[in-house]
Amino acid sequence: MEFDTIAAISTALGEGAIAIVRVSGEDAVEKVNRIFKGKDLTKVPSHTIHYGNIIVPDTNQVIEEVMVSVMRAPRTFTREDIVEVNCHGGLVSVNKVLQLILTQGVRLAEPGEFTKRAFLNGRIDLSQAEAVMDLIRAKTDRAMNVAIGQMEGRLSKLIKRLRQELIETLAHVEVNIDYPEYDDVEEMTHSVLIEKAERVRDEIRKLLQTSKQGKILREGIATVIIGRPNVGKSSLLNSLVQEKKAIVTDIAGTTRDVIEEYVNVRGVPLRLIDTAGIRETKDVVEQIGVERSKEMLQRADLVLLVLNYNESLTAADKELFEAVQEKDTIVIVNKTDLPQKIDLDEVKILAGNAKMITTSLIEEQGVDELERAIAELFFEGSLEAGDITYVSNARHIGLLAQAERTIADAIEAVHNGMPIDMVQIDLTRTWEILGEVTGETIHESLLDQLFSQFCLGK
Ligand code: GDP
Ligand code: ZN
Repeated sequence: MEFDTIAAISTALGEGAIAIVRVSGEDAVEKVNRIFKGKDLTKVPSHTIHYGNIIVPDTNQVIEEVMVSVMRAPRTFTREDIVEVNCHGGLVSVNKVLQLILTQGVRLAEPGEFTKRAFLNGRIDLSQAEAVMDLIRAKTDRAMNVAIGQMEGRLSKLIKRLRQELIETLAHVEVNIDYPEYDDVEEMTHSVLIEKAERVRDEIRKLLQTSKQGKILREGIATVIIGRPNVGKSSLLNSLVQEKKAIVTDIAGTTRDVIEEYVNVRGVPLRLIDTAGIRETKDVVEQIGVERSKEMLQRADLVLLVLNYNESLTAADKELFEAVQEKDTIVIVNKTDLPQKIDLDEVKILAGNAKMITTSLIEEQGVDELERAIAELFFEGSLEAGDITYVSNARHIGLLAQAERTIADAIEAVHNGMPIDMVQIDLTRTWEILGEVTGETIHESLLDQLFSQFCLGK
């Protein structure tokens, strides 16, 4: 494919001492060479880096001292010629360099355009391209590892294998359609068909089962801390937040007034919701009311219900237990440094399947155990096995669920003795749907939408 030459700043703004302007396209080397004083970049070998100055061509005025890498197609990220200008100065000088490059008739890249080209030029498939985006957004090492695994094509490989198996299965169906007069062939085909289709279905199911964990790694476990006033909610929040200095950012949530904070608990990102509310008011349950707490609960993947070891259970406590019935909950009985007044047997009965942990946050007791409980609740240790292929992307999950339904239809059709061409349709459809994950069968507008979510310069 032929594209124009594009450029963008490809390092995160304000981060690090070196900023890079990336230029990709047929004219990349020639265009940068016009404003570079040093070696003739059009003559240097591919994949080499060169010291020199960026100059305004007309005046010879030096803009910036730089290192320029020249990488020629096809062994580059976009499979086009790429030139990267490494600037030492800050934002201002990197911007000047970019502006100068743009005045040479290079177009400013759209967000995600480099990655889009990598995809369109066949360098990476779609799920890998999406992984680039995940990688940029990854909040913990584990999330990053999942993204890297996907970028390296782990998911793509699996999907490709499943599609291959479907093709082979379809070939069996073809035989059956072409030679319907042979009863033996039909017999054999049906059993082979079912066996193969079931294997593909099982693999799709297995992948779908990782989606809860995948989604969590990608988006964080939406966590809500609830409890009566003074039981230690803020203290719990603070010990989760302070111990892990890995809080990434405060980002504005989807709803007004809701602050979300990320905490890295043993590689599991917790997304603490409405912590501002907990921080600012002393009486969350009383002030915002149980109704409001329930609203918060609806959006939670995980509820941390805090009780006071030093007080007996109250009606409000019991109401909170009622409200969390349907949720993954960990019950925390706090203030064990004080005399026991709570009836722990009663707590256990109310907790049901939920894990109960005792803490003294003031003495920093029990937080470790709590963190372990959180990790176990969501990953049951399975995350330690590094070779699992996770699906975390909502688009992939949707497609896989669709594929699972379609292949289940195919299997049922065979069982019910439906005409074999019906089965063929379902299997072909499954093959197509799986192809959308890797982008082998995909529509143009969807592509634009996907790539526009990327950061600039990627
Ligand atoms: P919240 O209203 O539920 O957010 O509770 P806070 O976290 O603000 O704590 C209320 C009070 O209990 C504060 O004075 C804390 O210092 C105190 N507190 C928190 N955890 C403990 C604990 O484990 N032991 C004791 N003795 N006091 C605690
Ligand atoms: Zn508080």
